[in-house]
Amino acid sequence: MYIKLLYEFEQKEEVLRKKELRIKEIEKELQINDAVKKYNDEIAGLELALSGFNQRKHEIERNLEENESQIKNVTALLESNKLKTSKEIKAAKKTKENLLTKKEELKKSLEFIEEEIKNKKSSIEKLKSEIEEAEGSLEKFRKEQESLQREIKEESAILRKEFERLAKSIPEEILRKYEEIKENFPFGAITTVEDNTCSNCGALIPLERLEELKTGKGDRIILCEVCGKILYYPEELKK
Ligand SMILES: [Zn+2]
Repeated sequence: MYIKLLYEFEQKEEVLRKKELRIKEIEKELQINDAVKKYNDEIAGLELALSGFNQRKHEIERNLEENESQIKNVTALLESNKLKTSKEIKAAKKTKENLLTKKEELKKSLEFIEEEIKNKKSSIEKLKSEIEEAEGSLEKFRKEQESLQREIKEESAILRKEFERLAKSIPEEILRKYEEIKENFPFGAITTVEDNTCSNCGALIPLERLEELKTGKGDRIILCEVCGKILYYPEELKK
């Protein structure tokens, strides 16, 4: 009976310990903070590039306008009767041809720049949404951590009191021995017997021990000879 009570108490301690482990995990998750910083640096780089491309785009647009008006002028000149010699006409036609070629080149450059601007903008958007997502989960983890810390504080106080009560119902000698063994196994000094073996280390329990564990009332400390934990035979496993 005493062993059962102590075992059940240890199960509660285990629940608390799992919460403590979860807090440690969360601490790792909170390093997402670093990722957010990295994203922000990337965005700054992209924005710098973007402003360069925008500047270049305006230049090309200005060149295109200028080119357009030059084409208009030379076309008007060719349509007028101002050009007298065939040499003059030939030169004007050549000029127009060159201007048209330049126009095509400028248009291609503009297309390229516009594509780059589009790509940079979408990369920035993507990073921003990743930051948003990361910050959302940061917030979630922080909340989880806070509530776990609160729970641990409350529950460990409850458990301390519960152990004090429990200790009063257990003979001093058993309690003393239990606490001694627990020093070696702070995360649980009691282990169950399942299929005639120790659940902690898997060692087979000698027959006479097994018999004692099975028929006894669980009011004696019996150790696994291999790992040294206290053995507990749950009622539901006794056939
Ligand atoms: Zn064992």
